[in-house]
Amino acid sequence: MSEVFYQSITQLAAELEAKKLSAVELMQAVIARTKAVEPRVRAFNSFDESDALAQAAASDTRRAAGQSRGPLDGIPVALKDVIAVKDQPLTASSRILANFVSPYDATVTTRLRDAGAVLWGRCNCDEFAMGSSTENSGFHVTGNPWDVTRVPGGSSGGSAAALAAGEAIATLGSDTGGSVRQPAALCGVVGMKPTYGLVSRYGLIAYASSLDQIGPFGRTVEDTATVLRAIAGHDERDSTSYRATILDYRAELAAHKGPWRLGIPKEYFGEGLDPEIGAAVEQAIAFYKSQGCEIREVSLPHTRYCLDTYYIIATAEASSNLARYDGVRYGHRSKQAKDGVDLSYQSRAEGFGAEVKRRIILGTYVLSSGYYDAYYLRAQKVRTLIRRDFLEAYKDVDALITPTSPVPAFKIGEKSDPLAMYLCDIYTIGVNLAGLPGISVPCGFTKSGLPIGVQLIGQPFQEACLLAIAHAYDRAHDWNTRHPIL
Ligand code: GLN
Repeated sequence: MSEVFYQSITQLAAELEAKKLSAVELMQAVIARTKAVEPRVRAFNSFDESDALAQAAASDTRRAAGQSRGPLDGIPVALKDVIAVKDQPLTASSRILANFVSPYDATVTTRLRDAGAVLWGRCNCDEFAMGSSTENSGFHVTGNPWDVTRVPGGSSGGSAAALAAGEAIATLGSDTGGSVRQPAALCGVVGMKPTYGLVSRYGLIAYASSLDQIGPFGRTVEDTATVLRAIAGHDERDSTSYRATILDYRAELAAHKGPWRLGIPKEYFGEGLDPEIGAAVEQAIAFYKSQGCEIREVSLPHTRYCLDTYYIIATAEASSNLARYDGVRYGHRSKQAKDGVDLSYQSRAEGFGAEVKRRIILGTYVLSSGYYDAYYLRAQKVRTLIRRDFLEAYKDVDALITPTSPVPAFKIGEKSDPLAMYLCDIYTIGVNLAGLPGISVPCGFTKSGLPIGVQLIGQPFQEACLLAIAHAYDRAHDWNTRHPIL
């Protein structure tokens, strides 16, 4: 059996329940591991050992009194530094929020607390979740645990790296265009983006509100299902939250048996796909075929407009959402300002990094009078066509199967051109534009030892079915038992 910090929630919950392990011992093991590897991985922006140990002790007290709250009770879960935890720093990896402390809990944070999870550390990310490598963090770059000279992906790179390095048992990220699934693929863990509206965005720092969705990372699909169940569900504090029935997703894994009909979107296997990734995904498809699944090619004809559509809508919404950082209400305040208007100007100039500024400029442009119809409005119409493509495909298939990322983890500093970076999301952004659930599952390694992920895309609010399809692959393979040498 592997070290404590590399075990799954399922394994650890059994040990905690049998009193072979205490939540405090588990937390101590995760803290020791974090201290040992963090100088190289740098997955966290901050963590609070004494607070985590106090939560773990409370979990042990509950369990001793016969009041365990279920499988997450006593499990250390780390959150991306865009999710509010009361009285802890909340920075979005931006200099503009470097000194901000959250006065309240996000809904997902409250729900994890209610499930007994131990809230542990705030994970590094690209500034305001804008990026695909974590290199846009205003603080430091996170290393990929499989090769620390390479990126962990992004924007939730710290959440993926912390899990892969054994610095947490599960983590949360946010996914606006692929930010949970892509780093999951690059770090060899499972990462899921739920259907838009399934998980509350209350207490999530907004990037592009019509696309943002919080999602779980787990070592296994089963663990991912356990965390999703805890965080999902209607919340009146998020007006886009949906009144969906929340199932016990882990228990449901056994209820959906297949064989399923899986679609291969032909547009997702073209130019730009690394051949080793293509081969690994073909192997995963062959596995499903061997299980009796029907595999058919489908077409999502508007795929070629996804990137353009995304970068118009996401930047437009970002330019509006980020207007609140003005140096007046909270965050960095410039000391150079001459007057009130200059205060906002200087505070933003000093506080935001280059990529964030690029996006605010682009987003302001596409929303400006005279260009709104040509760009923003048109992008919204194309977005509808992109969603229709998926819904059309679902008349014939239960889910789609694609690569998660066109490339494995690349070297830190390798992609200096913004467009090259944007292309990392080519297979993940369609899912956000269409509001669908998607999951990345480890499906092999390149010859040089870098993880590869396969993406499964499901139908709206059919998370139970999507997780079951992913689980069928995950439990039949042992990719998740391999760990990086650190
Ligand atoms: N890489 C994409 C972007 O930069 C997606 C980021 C995300 O999902 N938060 O916008």
